[in-house]
Amino acid sequence: MSGFISKRAAGIEPSVTLSLNTRANALKEAGEDVVGLAAGEPDFETPEVIKEAGIRAIREGKTRYTPAAGIKPLREAVAAEYSELLGIDYQWKNVVISHGAKHSIFNALYALTDPGDEVMFVTPYWVSYPEMAKLVGAVPRIVETGADTGYKMTVEMLKEEITKGKPKVLLFNSPNNPAGIVYTKEELTAIGNVLLEEGIALISDEIYEFLTFDGVEHHSPVKLLPALKDQAVVVTGVSKSYAMTGWRIGFALAEEQLAYRMGAYQAHATGCPNAISQAAAVVAVKSGAADRDRMRDEFEKRKKMFGERLAAIPGISFPEPGGAFYFLVDVSALYPACGVSGSSEFCEKLLKERGLLVIPGGPFGLDNMIRFSFAAAEETLTMALDRFESFVSDYS
Ligand code: PMP
Ligand code: GLU
Repeated sequence: MSGFISKRAAGIEPSVTLSLNTRANALKEAGEDVVGLAAGEPDFETPEVIKEAGIRAIREGKTRYTPAAGIKPLREAVAAEYSELLGIDYQWKNVVISHGAKHSIFNALYALTDPGDEVMFVTPYWVSYPEMAKLVGAVPRIVETGADTGYKMTVEMLKEEITKGKPKVLLFNSPNNPAGIVYTKEELTAIGNVLLEEGIALISDEIYEFLTFDGVEHHSPVKLLPALKDQAVVVTGVSKSYAMTGWRIGFALAEEQLAYRMGAYQAHATGCPNAISQAAAVVAVKSGAADRDRMRDEFEKRKKMFGERLAAIPGISFPEPGGAFYFLVDVSALYPACGVSGSSEFCEKLLKERGLLVIPGGPFGLDNMIRFSFAAAEETLTMALDRFESFVSDYS
């Protein structure tokens, strides 16, 4: 290892979701018989009307720097859309456009924490949360959950955690990656009230807000408790809802001073988000609802098919996802027969023996589980299930 690498950089690991996704694609390109359910991204094309807006932006020469916090038409469109959705009066200055929801979370963590502050989040958490907290010099504080609470943090658990020391920020995600957990109105209200009483800031990662299934509803804590608005950053964006992962546009909604600081940080760290993608995102936010709903309906059908077949496989269990596009499945009962000691070894064996690539649960905080993404064509999902069933039957 180079002696020049900082301790801070040496403590950061690559994103397992992105690297395994790259690995699945490379194996396929090399002609290997591999089915990959690694990607946490819609397999749909970006809707035509949005693509056209991007092409138009290039033709019209919208290819220069924009204000660091984003173009005003997009900030206004996001403010209008979320004022209506969340019942809160957001103005354009409350909105910071970034290079993706991931980047918005990073900006928010930077603006809310000083080195040594604690950032609390809940297992199973998205892989990037611990690393992002470390990158800003904060300390991850993990609340462990399990099947007994449906992999949710109850308000009692939160209160108990706070008695051990108060975190600066709760980084919260519903609908959740990697398990599709969706918190109810009552659960969120109870948690939000504790944050208000204790003065703990909230980053509410709502990137899967439009992707809920079977009548399950997404609720935003700031809609339930408008008083939270001044201590909360709502993070979302176009990646998942409008099949725009590669365009790299995210949104943060926050109190004006906080939004100003996030914009100031971004101005020096990365500069403006991609100008062409911003022009396309205006169209997504204003005119993308029908396409968004069409893709959601398709995900719901796939989820049903996938869930029914998984449920019929003996020796495994999983929480029923209410949203996002993942199943997080407990496969630990198979570990002894497979001769593996954790989720990474299990996934390696599955890849080697059946050519099926899924994501280990370890980097999400649950080493007894593995994550399947159902954001793939039905025939891919069917092939994946055939391979998984036959693998499980070998070791049951
Ligand atoms: N939060 C969660 C929970 C996610 O799964 C993702 C997926 N990439 C992101 C944030 C980041 O989204 P984006 O691609 O817009 O950066
Ligand atoms: N968030 C997606 C996932 O969990 C995409 C990859 C990433 O950005 O980490 O698979």
